[in-house]
Amino acid sequence: MEKDKNILIIGGGIAGLSTAYYLKKGLEDRGTGCCNITLVEKGPRLGGNILTERLDGFLIEGGPDCFLSEKPWALALCRELGLEEELLPTKMPSGTTYVFSEGKLHPLPEGVILMVPTRILPLLRDTLISWRGKLRMAMEPFVPRRRQTTDESLADFVRRRLGEEVLRKIAQPLVAGIHAGDPETMSIRASFPKFVEMEQTHGSLVRGMLHRMRTTRTPQKNRTTLTMFVSLKSGMQTLVDTLADRIKDSVTILKNTAVERVEKETDHYVVKTEDGRSLIACALVVATPAWVSASLVKGFDERLSGLLLTIPYVSTATISMGFDKKGFSHPMDGFGFVVPEVEGRTIMACTWTSSKWDARAPQDKALLRCFVGGAKRGELVSMKDEPLAELVTKDLRDIMGIHTRPLFVRIYRWHRAMPQYTIGHMERVSSIEKLCEKHHALYLTGSAYRGIGISDTVRDAQTTAERLINTLFRQ
Ligand SMILES: Cc1cc2nc3c(=O)[nH]c(=O)nc-3n(C[C@H](O)[C@H](O)[C@H](O)COP(=O)(O)OP(=O)(O)OC[C@H]3O[C@@H](n4cnc5c(N)ncnc54)[C@H](O)[C@@H]3O)c2cc1C
Repeated sequence: MEKDKNILIIGGGIAGLSTAYYLKKGLEDRGTGCCNITLVEKGPRLGGNILTERLDGFLIEGGPDCFLSEKPWALALCRELGLEEELLPTKMPSGTTYVFSEGKLHPLPEGVILMVPTRILPLLRDTLISWRGKLRMAMEPFVPRRRQTTDESLADFVRRRLGEEVLRKIAQPLVAGIHAGDPETMSIRASFPKFVEMEQTHGSLVRGMLHRMRTTRTPQKNRTTLTMFVSLKSGMQTLVDTLADRIKDSVTILKNTAVERVEKETDHYVVKTEDGRSLIACALVVATPAWVSASLVKGFDERLSGLLLTIPYVSTATISMGFDKKGFSHPMDGFGFVVPEVEGRTIMACTWTSSKWDARAPQDKALLRCFVGGAKRGELVSMKDEPLAELVTKDLRDIMGIHTRPLFVRIYRWHRAMPQYTIGHMERVSSIEKLCEKHHALYLTGSAYRGIGISDTVRDAQTTAERLINTLFRQ
């Protein structure tokens, strides 16, 4: 292979695949087919954390089960790939999320968006937060905006604006259910930049949220009416498979090929694989988890490697269970529930999958999916199947009153798979970017840096492809 025409992408998750797709597209738009693009993936399959399986008429998501429509990049990619008909809104536009507190499930009061109250009446009727806590929440518009511009933990931010009880009963379990994170160490600026902006612009989250609700655009006609969460009818894996299919003619995909290390020469990189091959590239995109990327670049940049290691990861597992509706006592009238840490349970969150989505379980069956592990209970992920399933089943019995045996239990373990944006994350990423710029055509992309979910990862891949093409054509 001629080194000056080779672009190499390491990692075949959504980040690596979307980068390959946008590179191919960008080069075609420029009318040039001058580059060889190779994508190298360690495992036997593409998609990384995205994994869909079918079992006896059930459709099970092992990793992500949806993306946010508010962040437009994944949606735009799906439409570009011809997946409009595949887009799957939730069954209800905004299903109730419950919080398990003091022995029962309480609905999150209507109008509470993430943790911000936007309506008074439902808050008055609510059973989750004490009167003292509600009063503290109601004071939010009068809390002065923060003057310091330094980063702050999510916990301190919520405590300051909405009070301790909202942190304990709403913010903590919600972020554990989404990011598997610990609010005491999470960066508010990196994880919820909109909240910081609302505080700075409107002086209050309540006022900011109300303003946002008034100004949010209505969906375009003739398009699938979209809900906040969107999935794909035949599962999230369809996005991966369609991307792989779309790039297959112009991108060489090497599966079962783990990269061991990268060496840097004056104007190119030599990528050494575990099976003893050397791949030569003039431009390199590293789309592996940050701790893997750290070991890959260590040979030519110790500092970059060290900084990459400061992005912590946590492990999680999802446990999907199918039930016969006959004898199944719970109505599952919502999207599911979250469990505050103070409750001391195994389950962090549970999605009532067959209530949230169509096309996930046969008519007479129910499917639910529990989420365990994370920043506080990572050890659960290493437990053997049976004892782990037993703990989860016990929680479901106590929380939902389910006494029937599941038809099946499927456990998916995700070791060191979820990056944590801890305090100072933005500064760390900025230092990482500066170090990368010192190297010729070296790019890091993926969920570790500039956005955790699928949509942000797709956006970052698109930006990476554009930057790479600009660099190549500047030469
Ligand atoms: C349980 C779980 C649930 C989630 N739920 C949601 C959700 O509902 N919505 C949402 O938006 N996001 C969700 N996320 C986050 C989402 O999965 C990520 O944003 C996204 O999948 C990250 O993609 P990535 O390509 O950056 O990383 P990955 O998916 O981790 O891909 C990295 C790839 O690199 C490969 N690799 C590793 N080492 C090497 C090597 N040495 N050589 C070659 N290849 C290598 C890996 O095998 C892998 O395929 C969830 C994550 C998890 C773990």
